[in-house]
Amino acid sequence: MRPVALDDARLAALAREHGTPLYVYDAATIRARHAALAGFDVVRYAAKANPNLTLLKLLRNLGASIDVVSAGEIERAFAAGFPAERIVFTADLFDRAALERVGRHGLHVNVGSQAMLAQLADARPGGSVTLRINPGFGDGHHAKVTTGGELSKHGIWHADLAGAIDEARSRGFAVTGLHVHVGSGANFESLCASGELLARSARLVGDTLRTISCGGGLPVRYRPTDLEFDVARYARAWREHARAIEAFTRRPIELEIEPGRWLVAECGVLVAEVRATKRQGEREFVLVDAGFHNLVRPTMYGAYHEIRALAKTGGERPTIVAGPLCESADVFTQGQDGEFAPIPLPPLAPGDFVALHDVGAYGSSMASNYNSQPLAAEVLIDGARSWLVRRRQSFDELLAPEREL
Ligand SMILES: *Cc1c(COP(=O)(O)O)cnc(C)c1O
Repeated sequence: MRPVALDDARLAALAREHGTPLYVYDAATIRARHAALAGFDVVRYAAKANPNLTLLKLLRNLGASIDVVSAGEIERAFAAGFPAERIVFTADLFDRAALERVGRHGLHVNVGSQAMLAQLADARPGGSVTLRINPGFGDGHHAKVTTGGELSKHGIWHADLAGAIDEARSRGFAVTGLHVHVGSGANFESLCASGELLARSARLVGDTLRTISCGGGLPVRYRPTDLEFDVARYARAWREHARAIEAFTRRPIELEIEPGRWLVAECGVLVAEVRATKRQGEREFVLVDAGFHNLVRPTMYGAYHEIRALAKTGGERPTIVAGPLCESADVFTQGQDGEFAPIPLPPLAPGDFVALHDVGAYGSSMASNYNSQPLAAEVLIDGARSWLVRRRQSFDELLAPEREL
């Protein structure tokens, strides 16, 4: 589901107006993705995918709740106007800043390790908790984003769940939620298998249970050959589990989904300017002003993002697209083992623009200041209108926290 309102002329105009590298997000795409999740009672946006305040506010206005994983994301959720009741803090540990805020605001916690229960009992005594289960298996677009199984640090090991429930109760908590999240960009079968495990685990909790969450992890189509995820069928599968649980709790069970990528990946385009081209032996390189400080997914996971030349076609030849960083891995066209994977592009020259697609999730949110590169500007478009929703970081801001001795 690509933004229809982002044609080449408009992207180039925005790039000229705001400079490059530039993230452009389309509000209509986010709204459409959110609407497609109508089969779930609660859509809880995983803020880490893209925590831009304007996107958070847009999702809040659509009725979404929010999943936060750090003190900084708690600050963002409040800044975007989420009431405390719509915030859930999910983690496998509390750092001190997060625990303090959870206590102060009375936030609901999705507990990923038993050690958190004692700490929570001190900071925010009583009330309810959700327990996150590690189902013993995981899945994802890359081993690095698989969040279930013995090799994952996430969640309470499924065989230890009964013990965790006892501990939660003995510390004065009602276990009202169960949660499972097997990984990011997981396949349909693994996501459904986690539902079967959660439904069995629900019997251990019994009639205090109010909410089950299937986590996030829904895959998106980065390549035209990727299949569209059947989200309606997915909702039906989980609804059946909710009904089966209701049969013995005799209470309504609320069904939550917690996507990050699925809501925002496709809304985003990263526009970069070509600054140099060169030939190394037989290889054609196009060097652009965006690098892995803006978008690390290709370098970190060998992730594929479609790259197009704006308003140029013809004479396509295999091209390696690389960034400005002093680092050989600063290449957008690479495979899972770091091998170069050239893509067909027309001949380009300095001043031309390229667009990297499907970068709304885990693009800007994973950006860094490596090589003392400032964070990119971000623009939101909605129909014919556009707004700068994050200005480019200034060099003064880059240096401000430091002190010369
Ligand atoms: C990262 C994360 C998500 C979102 O994952 P996506 O693949 O972006 O949907 C949801 N829940 C938890 C607990 C997470 O850590």
